[in-house]
Amino acid sequence: MTRFVQGGPSLRDPYTADPQLRGWLDRLLGEDGHAAAGQRLAGLSAEVLGPLREAHHDAETHPPALTRFDAWGRRVERVDTSAGWQAQRAAAARHGVVALPYLPDARAAWGPGARVVQHALLHLWGPESATFSCPVAMADGAAALLAQSGAQGGWLARLTSTDPDVAVTSGQWMTESQGGSDIARSTTTAHPDGSGGWRLTGDKWFCSAIDSAMAVALARPEGAGPGSRTLVPFLVPRYAADGVRPAEGLQVLRLKDKLGTRAVPTGEVRLDGVEAFPLADPARPGLAAMMTLVVVTRLHNAAAAAGGMRRGLEYALSYAAERTIAGGVLADHPLHRATLGGLAVDAAGAFALAAHSFALLGRAEHGDAAAAAELRLAAPLAKLTTGRLAVASASEYLEAFGGAGYVEDTGIPRLLRDAQVLPIWEGTTNVLSVDVLRALSAADGAAPLLHRLTAAADAGAGAHRLPGVAEALAAATARLAADVATAAADPRNPRVVAGARELALRLGHAFTAALLIEHAAWAAGRGDERPALLASLWTLRRLGQADISADLHEHFAALI
Ligand SMILES: Cc1cc2nc3c(=O)[nH]c(=O)nc-3n(C[C@H](O)[C@H](O)[C@H](O)COP(=O)(O)OP(=O)(O)OC[C@H]3O[C@@H](n4cnc5c(N)ncnc54)[C@H](O)[C@@H]3O)c2cc1C
Repeated sequence: MTRFVQGGPSLRDPYTADPQLRGWLDRLLGEDGHAAAGQRLAGLSAEVLGPLREAHHDAETHPPALTRFDAWGRRVERVDTSAGWQAQRAAAARHGVVALPYLPDARAAWGPGARVVQHALLHLWGPESATFSCPVAMADGAAALLAQSGAQGGWLARLTSTDPDVAVTSGQWMTESQGGSDIARSTTTAHPDGSGGWRLTGDKWFCSAIDSAMAVALARPEGAGPGSRTLVPFLVPRYAADGVRPAEGLQVLRLKDKLGTRAVPTGEVRLDGVEAFPLADPARPGLAAMMTLVVVTRLHNAAAAAGGMRRGLEYALSYAAERTIAGGVLADHPLHRATLGGLAVDAAGAFALAAHSFALLGRAEHGDAAAAAELRLAAPLAKLTTGRLAVASASEYLEAFGGAGYVEDTGIPRLLRDAQVLPIWEGTTNVLSVDVLRALSAADGAAPLLHRLTAAADAGAGAHRLPGVAEALAAATARLAADVATAAADPRNPRVVAGARELALRLGHAFTAALLIEHAAWAAGRGDERPALLASLWTLRRLGQADISADLHEHFAALI
């Protein structure tokens, strides 16, 4: 008897097979700027197709383990990780996924656009990184904070090194068991050690990448008042001077048994007088300094969401081209095409949010005040909108594989398990929605977004490929302008707070429409109609609540 064996999905070169990524790089960097990044991106892409996919698989199948004591009872607090995890660590350094925006030659080549190139690297690599993208995000956030604070002690150079033997990553210790979102209730204290140094005491409840060489921990300096603003970020070396033994007073109580991100060692940590170095003046409220780090990690979260969605789409497309169902090949079936087409539109929207936010970050870091003002609202919107999209898409990707999508060793279930962390850490959807209310209540908080929406409505036929786009935009803009005014006038009103999530998601979807249309208008000038199609379909579905299924089927080939 011969048994039918279905071929699994294959992966095309993620750089050459992603027209949206390439188009955005052409626009944001200019064709010469994109060309200057081409070799770097192609090199990473080639590794993703080979050794990094293998390393990813190895790290996923060999989760980390904690050994707290050696055979003689001495504390070691050692976290063993797989060869695959170590290979990802080395690749992250070699490809400069943290370092790039800090490297003088990259800053000279691309200026603020170095953040755009970094985002492209993350987009290509993240989905096959066994979530090493998590320590990368935190290392980048820590580097941004260190670069700003000037308190470096050699750590910034190590965080941004491209030499795998030198490069380190960072943890980020904020969450405590009594409150992750409500950091005002943090109980970790910082006290002077009597000789000019500081020591931290307290328990941290979720410490990802606990194998990292350092962490940024939030603590309340002795004598500081209550609340969140008075917390101060401290740099904590994770290891003793030999780089092997744990820092004196540091215990890793256990590793979390998590739904996803299984290759990442996430620990619970006890700090009992651990040496630490303030990254802001301990005599002054320091939470604002910590937000430098948090904005960076939120944008990495958006990049991970968008990258994962694009990769899920690639796998589902590949499978659909192979799998035969009643009526022929799955990829030819109108309903499946409409389903995958919708996922392509969502992936395009998530990418636009992430790419634009990284571009804003680069400009803000180069002193562009308008970009910094827009980023205040863009960062929470990008994080919360892409997080929700990623989970919904991942569920569809599993379903697109039928039963195989539910079987662990196909590698597909991981898409859903790993997506689910995206709306949780670095601020849940609701916590970020409340943050959006805060951003809206600042003077002109929504002005950059509303301005983009108005421009998108006026973009013209080249960017509005399908009928009804301008009308959907105009109606959404009018409604949002009114709702934003109501929310900004009384952001603590319980009715406003209750509607914060709905408003934030509508803002996120409208923002995405504007960004896609902006890009479409540019692409139309080069005779490329694909971006306008994606922008129109996104707008009609998300803003106009239209049924676009027939269009998705009809235009399927142009969407993917
Ligand atoms: C895989 C993973 C890795 C993580 N790694 C780290 C790490 O490295 N470092 C770190 O510091 N933390 C880390 N976290 C912790 C994460 O940031 C927190 O879990 C998250 O911030 C939520 O905090 P919490 O768990 O205390 O939930 P809570 O804050 O108790 O939230 C419970 C519910 O209450 C809601 N809620 C809370 N406050 C509000 C509000 N003001 N308005 C409306 N709703 C609200 C939330 O939306 C949520 O639905 C990690 C979490 C996961 C899952």
